[in-house]
Amino acid sequence: MDISVVIPLYNEAESLPELESWIARVMEANGFSYEIIFVDDGSTDRSWDVIRSLAARNPAVRALSFRRNYGKSPALNEGFRRAKGDVVITMDADLQDSPDEIPGLYRMITAEGYDLVSGWKQKRYDPLSKTIPTKLFNATARRVSGIRNLHDFNCGLKAYRNKVVKSIEVYGDMHRYIPYLAKNAGYTRIGEKVVRHQARKYGKTKFGLDRFVNGYLDLMTLWFTSRFGRKPMHFFGLLGSLMFLVGLIAVMAVGFGKLWTMHHGGSYTLVTSSPYFYLALTTMILGTQLFLTGFIGELIVRNSSRRNDYEIETEITRPADEE
Ligand code: UDP
Ligand code: MG
Repeated sequence: MDISVVIPLYNEAESLPELESWIARVMEANGFSYEIIFVDDGSTDRSWDVIRSLAARNPAVRALSFRRNYGKSPALNEGFRRAKGDVVITMDADLQDSPDEIPGLYRMITAEGYDLVSGWKQKRYDPLSKTIPTKLFNATARRVSGIRNLHDFNCGLKAYRNKVVKSIEVYGDMHRYIPYLAKNAGYTRIGEKVVRHQARKYGKTKFGLDRFVNGYLDLMTLWFTSRFGRKPMHFFGLLGSLMFLVGLIAVMAVGFGKLWTMHHGGSYTLVTSSPYFYLALTTMILGTQLFLTGFIGELIVRNSSRRNDYEIETEITRPADEE
């Protein structure tokens, strides 16, 4: 099969028939063999009924529905697990992404050798309250992830080589950083394609401004886990040791300073009346705690069944190995 289109949706009943027939039209015009995987993320409107009637008409339609609303990332993840096409394309259900982009995205994966191609809504049809924070969001994501060539991390329209979606796990709200997840899994040929964007036709957006707060926190999590996920002591140990050392030196300075003035017969007070004493003490305590956090992190990694879970690219074996 050439293409799997994965569509996460939550209360998008009005858009679905139009979206499905548009995708089918594009696929047939280009002679692609395809499937459309609708993932109904616990919709409370008529979405599932609509999907059932679409599936009855079009044998390329696959679908599953969650019992409750889990979020876009879990929906994508389930779609990815089921996708059988050589190229997997994700698309929002609200008709903001255009199915006309599918052939171009497909070619970039199959002919130009990209592992992942992300859409870029260069000209956006969204309110200003969304486009300005989005610029900031993307600039931060570019810096932290080191994927310098992406302008639009969270574009719903993306294309992947099949093995990419099989080797990443999208959970929580991590759909915003799929390129980063792919990069961490070792897929570094990440490209971008300018795509047409439309204003939302039916229904309303499912994400508020809290997306930017949560997005920032998730980015920090990804940065941390991708660098230190398997060796937390390298993070906490270094930070903790440095803090402890600074505190120790400071406390010694306070102590020796007092001894020095005593020795020279100057007037002196208790070390506890100096603010530096407390600062030094706090620093030492925090340093110790960071260090111990590192140990606990290492114990957790040691017990994780995935501590030796790697992506094997190629391997040469001999028949004799199979004993
Ligand atoms: N979506 C989902 N589960 C959710 C929220 C959203 O599956 O909990 C789907 C939604 O139906 C749409 C896509 O994710 O197909 C993008 O959502 P939306 O258009 O609301 O986001 P925006 O375009 O405002 O970023
Ligand atoms: Mg939308």
